[in-house]
Amino acid sequence: MLLKDKVAIVTGASRGIGWAIARRFAEEGASIMLCARNPENARSIVKELSHPVDLITCSVDVSKPEQVQEMVQKTLDKWGKIHILINNAGITRDGLLVRMSLQDWQEVIDVNLTGAFLCSKAVSKSMIQQRSGAILNITSIIGLTGNAGQSNYAASKAGMIGLTKSLARELASRSIRVNAVAPGFIETEMTSGMDQKAKEAALGQIPLGYFGKAENVAEAALFLVSDQAGYITGQVLQVDGGMVI
Ligand code: NAP
Repeated sequence: MLLKDKVAIVTGASRGIGWAIARRFAEEGASIMLCARNPENARSIVKELSHPVDLITCSVDVSKPEQVQEMVQKTLDKWGKIHILINNAGITRDGLLVRMSLQDWQEVIDVNLTGAFLCSKAVSKSMIQQRSGAILNITSIIGLTGNAGQSNYAASKAGMIGLTKSLARELASRSIRVNAVAPGFIETEMTSGMDQKAKEAALGQIPLGYFGKAENVAEAALFLVSDQAGYITGQVLQVDGGMVI
């Protein structure tokens, strides 16, 4: 039980990578605050799990400071502590620069980057007081390489990497570790809309030859927030089948 007696907040956990992380953490003994704008989907899957989980859900838009604050307070009211934050909530609004609206730019920055900032800020008080904690940001290899048609998404994910490294330096003296996982192509709703041609082109760039699963990201997340990674902070771990080496 790597996370016994730990309390974790996982944002964007109603499906995909966030849900896989929440489920894996629960298996390792963590109590979970699971949030998304519509967490109902997660509530129904929880009922199908074979083992009992200590989990509550909250309807939150991570780009809204008051809602984030409410979610953190709800977590503290329930368990009194927060040990782990997973900034996973993310969206795409793809388009070439010349056609990208300011709204599409702003929405992606607000959810992916400002959301991570707001959630990190909201949990930091409690983590600083207890002098321990782990924050993990789910960025993307697109934040390392850029991608035509995803300037908003790439900027938000590169921003998350800067946020990770800065907070790692800032919070290390309080024994709070901050790391990031950068997935490549993972089979979730986010990638299910890709057309066959784009999928084949992507596969051609992956040395391991297949898309990853949400569970692959969850295992990396588990390692980085656990005591097994106790001397690791400020790092970006790629889970990408060798796509960016
Ligand atoms: P997904 O299946 O689309 O799930 C996204 C999750 O985020 C959902 O639970 C969604 O729930 C939630 N969400 C979206 N906007 C939100 C908001 N404003 N506030 C709170 N929750 C919000 O995506 P995924 O593939 O699992 O991706 C998870 C993370 O991994 C994202 O940050 C993504 O950028 C990153 N990533 C994914 C891949 C990939 O290939 N799939 C690759 C690299 C990085 P609601 O809609 O109910 O809010």
